[in-house]
Amino acid sequence: MKNLWNDTDEQTYISRYRGKYYTHPDTEKEILRQAYATTLLGADSALTMHGGGNTSIKVNIVDEAGKEKHALYVKATGTPLNLFEPEYFVVMDLDGLEGLKSRVGLDDADMASEFKRLRLARTDRLPSIESLMHAFIPAKIVDHSHPEALLKITNRAGGADLLTECFGKDLAVTPYARMGYDLASAVSESVRRNVGCGGVFIVHHGLVVWGDGAREVYDLTIEIVNRAERFLASMPSKPIRRGAEVSAAESERNYQKAAPLIREALGGGDVSLILLNAPDVMELINSPDASILRNPPLTPDYPMLRRILPLWLDVDLHGGIDELSSYIKAAVDKHVKEYGDYLGKRGVSDQPIIDLLPKAIVHPRMGAVCFGTDEAAAAAVGDFTRQAFSIRRAIFESGGVYRCLAEEYLFDMQYRGYQRDKAAGESKIKSQLPPSA
Ligand SMILES: [Zn+2]
Repeated sequence: MKNLWNDTDEQTYISRYRGKYYTHPDTEKEILRQAYATTLLGADSALTMHGGGNTSIKVNIVDEAGKEKHALYVKATGTPLNLFEPEYFVVMDLDGLEGLKSRVGLDDADMASEFKRLRLARTDRLPSIESLMHAFIPAKIVDHSHPEALLKITNRAGGADLLTECFGKDLAVTPYARMGYDLASAVSESVRRNVGCGGVFIVHHGLVVWGDGAREVYDLTIEIVNRAERFLASMPSKPIRRGAEVSAAESERNYQKAAPLIREALGGGDVSLILLNAPDVMELINSPDASILRNPPLTPDYPMLRRILPLWLDVDLHGGIDELSSYIKAAVDKHVKEYGDYLGKRGVSDQPIIDLLPKAIVHPRMGAVCFGTDEAAAAAVGDFTRQAFSIRRAIFESGGVYRCLAEEYLFDMQYRGYQRDKAAGESKIKSQLPPSA
């Protein structure tokens, strides 16, 4: 992974915002440097995608009443990292946040009202759900990302041990914890127990790195990712078997035929579709090993796993339109019913149909069709789907067995209050995709 830090760009970024928000020039410069570093974390989709990941900086400021305060500037939820602006930081009372450490099991509603109470500057934005994690780590700068290379090592049976083999004591590994209070206390506990480590990796989630300066911490993230990439490259390789070759022209032709039928089966109306048919995608979905994308293990997680895997069409695309149309409609309806039944059993009812639909529909001779309520949402689903394919393939090719995040967490991620509030302000569909499941 390329280190994108560029001193000239940094200066340009800083001078663009200088003098606009902060009084003390040194403090301002530090905050703006961290804001610039945030744009770099957002610039590589193998690090963060579509608002995932977040950053923070701790500084002393003088509040509106003229009192000196320890402040945490933390990324607001749902704001884009690649287009990050300094005003996307929410300014919080750091001492107040640290005081929440004693509130074991703090729930989302209480956390949200505490966050409101602890804001030091007026804003309508909600601080990241991971803000407590930033507050609890005793370092000036904290960067959190979801690096694909590390997920390729850990989203498998024995993945945590493999990561330890790769990094030794340089990186602490902690099991997945629910975002919010649980995650914050798991990570801070891991920091406390692993003195001298340069970061913590949360299994099935992402990387947290800290230090004194924006540049140093960004560099460390890139270094960790590069080390993970080298480790992956050194593992024994078992390439997927080659299947039928499908030309781009054939895939496009089939897409033109199936797209209107897919659109109709998804309920018609304002649905944007996007076709993934790059050579690596076609190679994978046509491989005899494509079962890694289509057959979730028959465990209690099955319906939830079905939900995050594409819906597979086993039908001859040369058939008549009516036949094809009713096949696709039946497949989508079956998916919606199964998923709705599952949610019903979990006590979630009255889900809008759009929440029950598959996110991607695959036919080996067409590609993967991803959809969203608008073009941006469809593109986001496309990016997450592409990444999920790439992670599963890398795990398979390095001899591993893919392991999904436990069902209770997947469920939690998609159906909990704070996340859904966040979703209301942006694309609904993209928020339903687990960032690193
Ligand atoms: Zn995260």
